[in-house]
Amino acid sequence: PRPFLNPERREDDIDASIRPLSLADFTGQRAARANLQIFIEAARKTGQALDHVLFVGPPGLGKTTLAQIVARELGVNFRSTSGPVIAKAGDLAAQLTNLEERDVLFIDEIHRLNPAVEEILYPAMEDYQLDLIIGEGPAARSVKIELPKFTLVAATTRAGLLTTPLRDRFGIPIRLEFYEIDELESIVTRGARVLGIGMSPDGANEIAKRARGTPRIAGRLLRRVRDFAIVEEAPTVTRAIADRALRLLDVDPAGLDTMDRKYLGLIANSFGGGPVGVETIAAALSEPRDAIEEIIEPYLIQKGFVQRTPRGRVLTPHAFRHLGLPEPNRDPA
Ligand code: ADP
Repeated sequence: PRPFLNPERREDDIDASIRPLSLADFTGQRAARANLQIFIEAARKTGQALDHVLFVGPPGLGKTTLAQIVARELGVNFRSTSGPVIAKAGDLAAQLTNLEERDVLFIDEIHRLNPAVEEILYPAMEDYQLDLIIGEGPAARSVKIELPKFTLVAATTRAGLLTTPLRDRFGIPIRLEFYEIDELESIVTRGARVLGIGMSPDGANEIAKRARGTPRIAGRLLRRVRDFAIVEEAPTVTRAIADRALRLLDVDPAGLDTMDRKYLGLIANSFGGGPVGVETIAAALSEPRDAIEEIIEPYLIQKGFVQRTPRGRVLTPHAFRHLGLPEPNRDPA
């Protein structure tokens, strides 16, 4: 069990209740929204299926939410699955043949699709055709099945993990960025309203600052702060209440959680600030390398705590200041 790495998917009804349902309601990601708006409108006007969309970005930034919004704005069905769930080509074939014209099929974690399944996805995406082999040995024959003109919306945490032929088949690649504080503030404020919690502007700001640039985390912190406010019998979440609740949760003033600090502390204390390879870090933290690269590092790199160099990860002076440690004297390499 690794509570801090659990993306808290699906389990969450509060998340679901504050999930935006339209592009207009979706906060942040201005560039992505503007693009989608145009493509969706064009598809609606021409009555054609929207080109395939690939969302790339760290967990919790709204990839699934946007995929649902795309289907809703197009006025079509939304079907959802994920890379690891599609074990055989036949599983994907079943999904595809059940679609109606212009439907959205969402495949989360598409980088984890098995290669045999990926093979049948190419002609499906390109020509709306399924090439299947039926039977075995000399009796085997191949059949072509026409598919409805559908839209594949896929999500991945790292575009680099996709094969080039797959990546090239998405006409609309969209990268999601970490959210700005003011964007998270409005997400928190809106969430508080939905949940019926009194929230002062500085309370929302405190939660937003500590949400790691991520709406899913903002939602999670909001829930915990609400519980704290209930126990304290505070009618409104102020900055002081939010701060006390978040400290108890071990979220520090920069929004770093336990795992972030373990990661930084490890490099500082055991490796003299780096450079150290990601495999070594993964082994020392007993975390899978993927989790380190997809969940922990993107935010720490964006905030300037760590740099990726050819020789490994290196802490910045900012990280040492944050940890309250002196900077080591590094050999000028
Ligand atoms: P991903 O698929 O990228 O991991 P999700 O789409 O599941 O992320 O989003 C995680 C949660 O964060 C959702 O339940 C949703 O409530 C919330 N969320 C994401 N983006 C936004 C946004 N722009 N505005 C408000 N809430 C959001």
